[in-house]
This record gives sequence, structure tokens and C-alpha cells, in this order.
Amino acid sequence: MANVIALENVEKIYDTGEVKVPALRGVSLQVASGEFVAIMGASGSGKSTLMNIIGCLDRPTKGKYLFDGQDVSRLSRTELAHIRNRKLGFIFQGFNLLKRHSAVENVEMPLLYAGVSARQRRKRALEMLSLVGLSQRAGHLPNQLSGGQQQRAAIARALVNQPQLLLADEPTGNLDSHTGAEILDQFQRLNRESGQTIVMVTHDPAIAAYAARLIAMRDGLIASDAVNPSQHAGPASHGAATATLAGSGVAGTMRTAS
Ligand code: ADP
Ligand code: MG
Repeated sequence: MANVIALENVEKIYDTGEVKVPALRGVSLQVASGEFVAIMGASGSGKSTLMNIIGCLDRPTKGKYLFDGQDVSRLSRTELAHIRNRKLGFIFQGFNLLKRHSAVENVEMPLLYAGVSARQRRKRALEMLSLVGLSQRAGHLPNQLSGGQQQRAAIARALVNQPQLLLADEPTGNLDSHTGAEILDQFQRLNRESGQTIVMVTHDPAIAAYAARLIAMRDGLIASDAVNPSQHAGPASHGAATATLAGSGVAGTMRTAS
């Protein structure tokens, strides 16, 4: 299956003026469509730098990055922003929902930037909220939702544009373990039932265990890259997240480490 991500010898050197910090020292990585990958590693190992490059938020100092078949390593900031808006979904630790807007308005936001009509925006946002089991909360403001519900709204927002790639940086960092498990079950279903490609950064092995492929970073390099030996058994029966995914039915692809 086609690669969504292809990094070739990517280096990132932060130039602080005084010193040059080599954050990535030659990373080569391929992620195929339909994979669910967890990136682990100690603080300072380069995880966020790698995610920023994968997510077209930053450019490599050296090396090449093909995203969805397109060489994005030399694009301008504006061109990168265009790709982010159209092809990528982001989920970060702090949810970052707009406080004065209801759940459905938050989910509609990326469609507004994409120029989708108001009617279509509402329709698709409500479908996404249904997908994450939040239909009954569409009109609620973020502070009227639990932490897990807020994070599910953030997932709906990240997915409403049907991104080629979903990127999550410590997606359960602010959640209790039960709610965290609920979110990870949701990721797993999205991946298995809709073939959503997911790359997730976490420092927690219990969270990484949900992914099918585990990558460990050390000192700006990939230290290991392998199929998850203890692939999580599958969705537990968390009552709040029982939405069925009306996906394309593309099966996730398991890759062996290269
Ligand atoms: P991780 O996410 O694994 O904790 P990072 O990618 O944030 O690691 O950082 C990798 C290295 O790059 C660290 O040594 C960090 O101090 C350095 N670094 C990260 N961002 C910057 C920056 N904007 N300027 C200078 N150095 C940075
Ligand atoms: Mg980090």
C-alpha cells in the first residue's frame, strides 16, 4: 500500500545562535496508509521535532520528506499550511477547543477554512460527533463536557476533513486512565474499521500498546522499529464510546520492521 510518510535521512538542527542542537540526526522512516504507529522515547530524544516535521509544521534542515507522495521538504510556510489544513488532523494534549463555541461549532471549524458551505459543515460535523459518541452533546460548550468528551470532540474535529494522516501528541496526557483507555479504543477502531492512518507520540508503554507498530527514538535517531508483540486485545466495553464507524472498511496494514 502507498506510503503516507516517507522520510529519507532527515536531520533537524536547531540553531540557537550560540549553539547548534542536532535534534534529528538522520531519520529514515516509512509509514504506509492504514498503519497505527506509536513513537516513544525519553524526553529530548526528538519525538516532538519528528512530529513537527511529519505534521508539516516545520521543515528538515537536511534530508527529504515525502508526504502522501509529495516532496514537502522544501515547501514555503504558506504551502505547508495549505497541506496541514487539507490533509492532516492534529490532536494535542490540551484539546484546544474554542471555549465560547459549542462542540459542533468546534468540529465545523476546519471545514470553514476549507471553504465548505454552512449546511455541509453542520451535516459533516454532526456525523463526526455521532462517530465519537457525542451526538447528545453537540450543543454543549467545552466546559459543559467531561475531559474525555472534550478529547472526543477534538478527535471529531481532527477527522472532519478526512485527513490522510491523524497525528496525536500525548493524546491522553490530561486524562484519567479509564478515559484515556476510552480514547485509545476510539483510535483503534478508527484504524481497524476505517483504515485511518495514525501516528501517536507517547511516553507511556501502556498507551503505545494500542498501536500495531512501535518506534523508539534515542538521541535524534530511531533506535528500534517493530511490530507490537503485545497487540492490544481490542475494544473493551466502555459504554460511552460505542459509536459504530461508518468507514471505508480498508483494513489496517501490518508492517514488519525494516
Ligand atoms: P522530545 O519531544 O522527545 O522530548 P524534542 O524534539 O522536543 O524532544 O527535542 C529534541 C532536542 O532538540 C532536545 O535537545 C531539545 O532541547 C532540542 N530542541 C527542541 N526544540 C528546540 C528549539 N526550538 N530550539 C532549540 N532546541 C530545541
Ligand atoms: Mg516532546
